[in-house]
Amino acid sequence: MSNYTPPTADILFAMAHVADLEGILATDRFGHVDMESISAVVDEVGRFMAEEVAPTNVDGDRIGSQWQRDGTVVTPDSFNPAYQKWVASGFGAMPFEAEFGGANFPWITAIAVQEMFTSSNMALALCPLLTQGAIDAILAHGSDEQKATYLPKMMTGEWTGTMNLTEPQAGSDVGAVTTKAELNENGSYSITGQKIYITYGEHDLAEQLVHLVLARTPGSPPGTKGISMFLVPKFVLGEDGSVGERNRATCVSIEHKLGIHGSPTCVMAFEGATGWLVGNELDGMRNMFTMMNNARLSVGLQGLSLAERAFQQSLQYAQNRTQGTSIGAEKGTSSPIIEHPDVRRMLMTQRAWIDAMRALVYTNAAALDRADAATDADQAREWRELADLLIPLSKSLCTDVVNETTSLALQIHGGMGYVEETGIAQHYRDARIAAIYEGTNGIQAADLVGRKLAMRGGGVISDLLDEFELRVKELASIDGLTLFAQRLDEAIATTRVATAHLIEIGPTDGRSLLGASSPYLRLLGTTVCAGLVAKGAVAASTEANARAAFNADFLAAKTASARFFGEQILPTTAGLLAAITAPADDLFALTADQLL
Ligand SMILES: Cc1cc2nc3c(=O)[nH]c(=O)nc-3n(C[C@H](O)[C@H](O)[C@H](O)COP(=O)(O)OP(=O)(O)OC[C@H]3O[C@@H](n4cnc5c(N)ncnc54)[C@H](O)[C@@H]3O)c2cc1C
Repeated sequence: MSNYTPPTADILFAMAHVADLEGILATDRFGHVDMESISAVVDEVGRFMAEEVAPTNVDGDRIGSQWQRDGTVVTPDSFNPAYQKWVASGFGAMPFEAEFGGANFPWITAIAVQEMFTSSNMALALCPLLTQGAIDAILAHGSDEQKATYLPKMMTGEWTGTMNLTEPQAGSDVGAVTTKAELNENGSYSITGQKIYITYGEHDLAEQLVHLVLARTPGSPPGTKGISMFLVPKFVLGEDGSVGERNRATCVSIEHKLGIHGSPTCVMAFEGATGWLVGNELDGMRNMFTMMNNARLSVGLQGLSLAERAFQQSLQYAQNRTQGTSIGAEKGTSSPIIEHPDVRRMLMTQRAWIDAMRALVYTNAAALDRADAATDADQAREWRELADLLIPLSKSLCTDVVNETTSLALQIHGGMGYVEETGIAQHYRDARIAAIYEGTNGIQAADLVGRKLAMRGGGVISDLLDEFELRVKELASIDGLTLFAQRLDEAIATTRVATAHLIEIGPTDGRSLLGASSPYLRLLGTTVCAGLVAKGAVAASTEANARAAFNADFLAAKTASARFFGEQILPTTAGLLAAITAPADDLFALTADQLL
């Protein structure tokens, strides 16, 4: 039930033949890393996750984290040993600066680690995910003293981090936060207010928690311009850096929720808690944005991870469960349900989307690495633009699609999917949050049409589509991939029409632009996925080094999965153009009363 097979070959293929890992390793910034060491890391992490972490997943769901009356939170018994082994492994520090104990590996490697961690136990993996966000913010904006004091232990995972943005009246609208920060004589601040939904705001996996809290200083302007970021440790550190007095930041309850029961979602009370400014006063929102790309990419990755885990389980079930006689089977025999075409469709749909999501997320991570490593300013800007464009696609598309694919995985289990016994329902429930947090998918779509579409007047999107045109030509020259080439060509054309339309109406009809945002994200995201899986299919069919590194069956499967995506999933987006080009009038045709 808790079996997880790390898809190490798929990960290495996506890195090498879709995301151009070689290009990353050829930069000065990452020249000290080679393909062999990344391959060894992927294998070792895969083994660790499958053996040590995956078996804890069910405990997370069934036992969950428990709030105690004294304000502590107890995680399931199996979590702590697995987490301490993770800390000892050092894998968490790998992508970070050597100065603080990291190994300066490219971010794409961290993505591989996170993928397998999240597939193994999403609820537990959220703890390092939030810590990573806090590390990014401190690295980019913290003082030298804050970095030296907190980062080494946060990078190993000995200390964990949280992000405290949300308040009851401030969800998507972060500018509405009211938590106060008042300057003390010694330069620290007293933080007062309530934060809700704080992931791992309290737990028993680490001796110290480092809360990053958004709050307002007296007299600050309203909205996002008046927000500052503060570092509020659970225990105030002594002069010698030792963990000292308990801070006035406590967990007053945890939420009971649909999934990720192992991850405590905390209501935090800050009652004059001692905190220190991170970066400049009033720069809190800007500081948040610097860590947002990584965090949003990681949440998109959760979609991929859970899709993979649920798919594996559904495949196993489909091979074992027998029902009916499939076409061609001996009369009177009971066939494994995998032999029924409709079950095959559910499996192939999952499989093709998983390859597509992996292609998207790893390409996005690679763009972040290339932007980071580029020494030429123009190149750095171009990579940054690509990464920025792909972020809302990775975040939203993968976290929307995982709801569909985990639903298919559950469907394959029939009634056994709906009852809790098989464990498949956990993945379906766990996956649901990813479309909601780290900026809802609606907010991502608004970001796509509001900011990303406008980058270079649509030039960033157009450049990417131009690149995919080359893929069309390559596909067209490969036996068995010509229909995929035609479908990709059509999807590119549809996406160009949709993009031009939104660019045209954007300045004058914001309502229709926003009304079209989600279908447009689906169209662009699916087309981008198709362009990327096409790249993989071309490599699998023609590239000598791909053919040398992966076995023929694996490469044939990659091509078949890409073809299915191109021929059967990609064309479904054609119908979205109608919703994208329709004015918003119909969305508002009924009053709230009439909607009833
Ligand atoms: C399990 C869990 C863990 C979380 N972890 C954290 C954490 O660690 N730290 C933290 O700070 N927060 C955390 N959150 C909070 C999470 O980020 C918010 O729930 C999320 O940002 C949405 O805010 P909201 O719940 O207030 O929904 P709302 O903002 O009220 O949104 C409701 C609906 O309206 C839509 N909507 C709202 N505004 C707009 C708009 N301008 N345009 C279009 N659509 C809009 C949304 O897309 C959504 O569909 C967590 C939440 C959960 C449930």
